[in-house]
Amino acid sequence: MSTLAIMGGTFDPIHYGHLLVADQVRHNFNCDKVLFIPAARPPHKEGVPISSARHRLAITRLAVASNDAFMVSTLEIDRPGPSYTVDTVKAVHQLYRPEKLYFITGADGVLEIMTWKDVNQLLSLCCFVAATRPGFDIGNLKEKLKDLPEEKLKNIIPLSVPALDISSTDIRRRVRKGEPIKYLLPEPVEKYIKNHRLYL
Ligand code: ATP
Ligand code: MG
Repeated sequence: MSTLAIMGGTFDPIHYGHLLVADQVRHNFNCDKVLFIPAARPPHKEGVPISSARHRLAITRLAVASNDAFMVSTLEIDRPGPSYTVDTVKAVHQLYRPEKLYFITGADGVLEIMTWKDVNQLLSLCCFVAATRPGFDIGNLKEKLKDLPEEKLKNIIPLSVPALDISSTDIRRRVRKGEPIKYLLPEPVEKYIKNHRLYL
């Protein structure tokens, strides 16, 4: 019996914003493990070029290696077709049989969930944790997600975390422009990006 949290993302690349949020949730919700699940082809990012799953998986593994509570799952990368969160959450229930399951998003992610597949079922299968993120307002979540029934809204829990104004988009831009990315992500990830000439 265990408490699990899922940290989903494109992780192109993974950075300290992701790691900080995951560890804050781990502590606040007493999670035994946080499962990082790199997305295969995020349905909402169609048309945007993303790095190969192989690279994103490799850097995600490098980034979580120093935390015993963090694990990486290839569940979405291994599954053919578009990766819907509801399918991932069902698969995690089957594989790990957690007593309690959380799904972590940042403030921008949670504001989009109304557009996600089977959002009502999704919110009955796990509890969402919406972490604060600079530039996105999750004040008044109830109003913003007013199309959700009351009992589903209860399953979305806001969490204040120290603000790190870091995004993968900005890191990719920095690499392209030759600007520093040091201290925005773990050093092994920075080295990997350099060695494999990603984002140039
Ligand atoms: P991109 O700019 O490519 O969208 P990103 O930095 O938003 O990348 P994602 O892989 O899209 O990273 O994010 C995965 C999850 O992590 C999302 O739920 C997102 O809201 C959250 N997240 C990412 N960066 C932060 C941050 N700095 N603070 C809080 N949450 C974050
Ligand atoms: Mg994003």
